[in-house]
Amino acid sequence: MTVVDRFLKYVSYPTTSNPHADEATYPSNPEELVLLSALKEEIEAMGLQADMDEYGYVTATLPANVEGAPVLGLLAHVDTSPAVSGREIRPRIIRYAGGDIVLDTAGEHKIGTADNPELAHYIGKELIVTDGSTLLGADDKAGVAEIMTLLATLLENPSLPHGKIRVAFTPDEEIGRGTDHFDVAKFGADFGYTVDGGELGEIEYENFNAAAGELHITGVSVHPGSAKGKMKNAVDIFADFHAGLPRAERPDATKGYEGFYMVDEITGGVESLHAAYIIRDHDRARLEERKAYFLSLAKRVDEAWGGGCIQATVKDSYYNMAEIVKKHPHLVENAKAAMLACGVEPRVNPIRGGTDGARLSYEGLPCPNLSTGGLNFHGRQEYIPVKSLETMVDVLVHLVGLYAKEAAHGI
Ligand SMILES: [Zn+2]
Repeated sequence: MTVVDRFLKYVSYPTTSNPHADEATYPSNPEELVLLSALKEEIEAMGLQADMDEYGYVTATLPANVEGAPVLGLLAHVDTSPAVSGREIRPRIIRYAGGDIVLDTAGEHKIGTADNPELAHYIGKELIVTDGSTLLGADDKAGVAEIMTLLATLLENPSLPHGKIRVAFTPDEEIGRGTDHFDVAKFGADFGYTVDGGELGEIEYENFNAAAGELHITGVSVHPGSAKGKMKNAVDIFADFHAGLPRAERPDATKGYEGFYMVDEITGGVESLHAAYIIRDHDRARLEERKAYFLSLAKRVDEAWGGGCIQATVKDSYYNMAEIVKKHPHLVENAKAAMLACGVEPRVNPIRGGTDGARLSYEGLPCPNLSTGGLNFHGRQEYIPVKSLETMVDVLVHLVGLYAKEAAHGI
């Protein structure tokens, strides 16, 4: 089976994770277990040992054919984003001739060249696209297919050198719960890579430091006709607070390494209001400054309204894995070298979000993220070039080979 065959097979499984599932339901969508079981069986059919634990995590081992190399972990997630339907995905392989790609017969959905200038790189190439009714699921079934094809390739070609490889397929990444029950110690890898990034060549090891900010505002409701000097409208108090956050530090005004405050949800009215914020910064010290500013602003606005109106809290969510990964520079250097050996220009991008690798890095498995080759994740315009799927398998073969060669040279 080729990497393309595998990819097309895996996207036929509906595995949309469910953000509304209760904590006790894991995986959040039991359908994820169907693909996870199929992956376990496929690995066993290759003659390798595979396990599936009570949470659905599938792990497997490819024994080393070279002594002394570190144990490398390779991870990908099986769920797809709840943002768009992932049921009855009908992928199509097209040869791209240039111009906009019309996805559906009605012509309502297209991948336009104006929004997707990188399409110019793929003229004359085969692309896997949707029919406009669903997402594609390259995030992250491309990563799953690439890792599975790596295993098959190494088994079929025993002359390719590699240390012990541990593989993990996980559920619920898209709802931020991918590593909730993942046992890093039991996995037993020295270093890892998630294969869950975008366009071919991406290497990611810097993500946001993240915190959640909350406001509980208590107002005083009085008939508006006789409210002078008495009413404290929780919505007005909130508006004063929100106006105190710098306009230039919102997601729509920032990029690259720039951090932000974002109000995520507000509920309430005159008497009470709850607001949830997310606070992000690549720099840990600057995240601390942002958290402190959030709290001091709440205090200032509260005092201006006479006190006792605003309860503000901040809580850390996750941290930038760069602090961990930078202690093991070979992780990024070897990933770059493996890409260059396959004719791919590596690009190190800061992630404006989080990743499973961030949590794993802080739990003892330093774990940068590699490209899958897919583009436009979480939408109907998602697509992946066939060549990118194939090249990522070569990149992984080279990557495990680099660690094996370093071991052979006693480095
Ligand atoms: Zn993903």
